[in-house]
Amino acid sequence: MNIVLFGPPGAGKGTQAIKLAENFDYIHLSTGDIFRRNIKAKNELGNLASSYIDKGELVPDEVTIKMLEDETKKHPGAKGFIFDGFPRTIEQAEALDDFLANHYGSKVDKMLSLEVDDKELIKRLVERGKTSGRSDDADPDIIGNRIVEYNKKTAPLKEYYLNQGKYFDIKGVGSVDEIFQRLAAEVE
Ligand code: AMP
Repeated sequence: MNIVLFGPPGAGKGTQAIKLAENFDYIHLSTGDIFRRNIKAKNELGNLASSYIDKGELVPDEVTIKMLEDETKKHPGAKGFIFDGFPRTIEQAEALDDFLANHYGSKVDKMLSLEVDDKELIKRLVERGKTSGRSDDADPDIIGNRIVEYNKKTAPLKEYYLNQGKYFDIKGVGSVDEIFQRLAAEVE
């Protein structure tokens, strides 16, 4: 079972992806977390990624796809994957389909989309920025830019998965446990 956990910045993908992976014994892969690890390590990939992340822009597809594929290959015997923050463009979604088919003979089974309105998202991101240490959470202009990028490049993915009968929207407001139960019911 391969799950794409989808939703705008601040929807709660990271929190829920960790819980789902634990509960179902799947591998959790967050492209945002992997970029941040590389930024901390001050390596070439990290330097390149931070030049986009710091502005609230998406990192180019070519770089992101290669990185995600390399990380996925580290878990050849995985029962399933929870992709968190990937894909974020149609090109990434097509690359993921090809990669899963060619390397695992598998596919994306479901795309679970956490639905939260823009006002609530901004409130959550500003709140998170007080403690996350993430530069892209600290500045309202960058937060705004991430939401613009989401609406322009990432939101069209709903259509992509809807056309394949894989799109499920999940109410992303309520307690962490309530939202988890809604997601887990779709995974089961
Ligand atoms: P996240 O932790 O998912 O909010 O991601 C933080 C930032 O990392 C995003 O605002 C993007 O700049 C970058 N990023 C994460 N995942 C992707 C992706 N799939 N494609 C392009 N950029 C990404």
